Amino acid sequence: MKIRDLLSAHQGPLFSFEFFPPRTPEGEEALFRTIAELKAFRPAFVSITYGAGGGTREKTVDWAVRIRAMGLTPLAHLTVVGSSRQNLEALLQTLLERQIENVLALRGDPPQGASRFTPHPGGFRYASEFVAFIRERFGTAFSLGGAAYPEGHPESGSLEADLRHFKAKVEAGLDFAITQLFFNNAHYFGFLERARRAGIGIPILPGLMPITSYPQLRRFTEICGASIPGPLLSRLERHQDDPKAILEIGVEHATRQAEELLKAGVVGIHFYTLNKSPATRMVLERLGFRPLPPGPSSPGPPPAS
Ligand code: FAD
Repeated sequence: MKIRDLLSAHQGPLFSFEFFPPRTPEGEEALFRTIAELKAFRPAFVSITYGAGGGTREKTVDWAVRIRAMGLTPLAHLTVVGSSRQNLEALLQTLLERQIENVLALRGDPPQGASRFTPHPGGFRYASEFVAFIRERFGTAFSLGGAAYPEGHPESGSLEADLRHFKAKVEAGLDFAITQLFFNNAHYFGFLERARRAGIGIPILPGLMPITSYPQLRRFTEICGASIPGPLLSRLERHQDDPKAILEIGVEHATRQAEELLKAGVVGIHFYTLNKSPATRMVLERLGFRPLPPGPSSPGPPPAS
């Protein structure tokens, strides 16, 4: 099903989960288990990332197909890093042939070791160009999502410039957007208000990441530029060597964020799961959502294609 149709038909908040393609067979098995566990919460869709530098292209397609075979709606992330227009068009064609009809169209981060994004000579500079290209070549065959940055993208000079660029991306043909993770809802509410004032009407799903590891959190926030509120940071620092305490603080904080977002009437919440189920499951359960009991018809992991 196309995500734009899911979003327009939704009654009540929906949830979606993000995973990344594992590098090892053990990681692959663990991811099947994680998806099967979180499937019980009936996600509207499940997204699968595209490796920085474009290195996991085939894996993203394979996992999108596997997710579909597990009875879920996949959203395949694609970036323009290191790809020509022809490469990207062929990849999109493959997705269509494999009945993957939802794409998160991204520019992507520079490959490891590179400090700046350099466009492929026959490719695109910005996600907006990629979105326009997909619409031109494929019409409405895909439901297209894009990235949004409540605190501004790290490379953008100002929030105003970033919003202008986001608007251009939306006008190029986005159906919905998913935000970068944030730990202070005021950033999301402020961004949403600015976007609506600028005439942007598409659904903008807030992205939440329940914190489960202090060093990982520091790494991620350094890359993506998300700020950590002072009191939360102090609590995390005090307990940084106690994984159980970090999990509890992370789940408690994400639950409070989610409660406030749901109360404000958001269309849904996108969870950055980091391929693990416990923290996201704990948040959903604390919000009062119960998983479906496992049924005899639950499919096991489909064979790798
Ligand atoms: P753009 O929308 O192109 O924006 C990039 C920068 O260019 C911004 O600073 C923007 O303000 C600026 N800009 C845009 N248009 C113009 C213009 N016309 N003139 C001047 N400046 C302009 N990365 C991955 O590698 N793989 C993934 O799977 C992945 N998934 C993600 C999922 C989500 C929900 C989010 C929020 C991010 C994800 N990312 C992923 C990270 C993303 O690729 C990076 O943040 C990347 O640096 C920007 O991608 P974008 O699509 O937002 O780019």
